[in-house]
Amino acid sequence: MNTSWFRVREGAATRGVLVLDASRAATDHWPGQRALVVGVGALLPAADRPDVAFLGSAERLSYDTFTRDADRRYAANAGRGRVTGPLLDALGGDRPPLVVVCAVRPPADLADWRDGAAEGVALVRLDPASPGADCPELPFDAAAIAAALTRRPGTVRVRLPGGFPLAWDNLAYRADGTDLVSDAGANPVMRVAFAHTGEAAEVLAERAWDGGASGSLPVEPTAPDPEPTWRTLSGVEQSVVEAWRDGRAARCAACGARHDAGAVACAASGGSVLPTLVREAAGRFVRIRLGVMEATYQPVAGSAAVVGGAVVARDGAGGLAVWQPGPPTGGWVRSTEAWGAFEPAGSADEFLLALPPGKPA
Ligand SMILES: [Zn+2]
Repeated sequence: MNTSWFRVREGAATRGVLVLDASRAATDHWPGQRALVVGVGALLPAADRPDVAFLGSAERLSYDTFTRDADRRYAANAGRGRVTGPLLDALGGDRPPLVVVCAVRPPADLADWRDGAAEGVALVRLDPASPGADCPELPFDAAAIAAALTRRPGTVRVRLPGGFPLAWDNLAYRADGTDLVSDAGANPVMRVAFAHTGEAAEVLAERAWDGGASGSLPVEPTAPDPEPTWRTLSGVEQSVVEAWRDGRAARCAACGARHDAGAVACAASGGSVLPTLVREAAGRFVRIRLGVMEATYQPVAGSAAVVGGAVVARDGAGGLAVWQPGPPTGGWVRSTEAWGAFEPAGSADEFLLALPPGKPA
């Protein structure tokens, strides 16, 4: 089992794009398109004003850059072919929330947008007599276009095909099976570690926008977090772990009774049979090593622990589940194997301890 770290970044395409037709057939429609851009911008806060592009060009201009110099921008693009390909190629997977294409006739390659982004494009017919297209349409109306461009970021779904999320540093994300899903509108940036077999393939991070469009966020491999330090348990705690290792209940210094293996919380005293560990996060895992002279422990970063070729994680019911990688095309499979709060982990003197979950708020 391997562990790989990735960083999800904020995408660049957070504003919609208004694409104009500068082809010869659309010459008479230039003043109308210029007025439409200004009309849309006047209805939106500065941060939501769309970028502007021309059919046949890959260049995306900010709203301010375009409107400062609209006629010259038009002149520089006049005569361009009525195709969306160059802009589509330039955007790559980082799709904006909505691309509104104004055209005197539907661009021949408009159907290419259907490649996973059918809801991400809308057509405005400059000539109402022209044929429609196989995509949503908007009227030639600034208010309708401004409303369509006002889309809020929704949830982000992050997954490594064949991978199991172990640790992540953005609390807006929660596990949904082996995917991570963020709260709607949350900052999507995070560092995340996945367990996987074989080579780590590409991590997919897809952001949905209110209204149905979605686009991918950039993800890059990154250096792992430093491994948490191994710390020492007290001599009394060492004898507790030794008893558990030997299959015996351990005598509790707090209440005097005996605690079964993994029973860290002491109900009678309200304390812990391993008080050093109360500083560690409730519900998380720690690895414990029994040496000849001392016992040491290391907190596990994140909410799941790799043990051999499997991953141990809490299930939704507060129990512990063992997950194993399924066939290459399938996800992870929950093992029928029961897993206790204190189990051998990898070697004769190393154990995985599940700390008691926190009390519900
Ligand atoms: Zn006790």
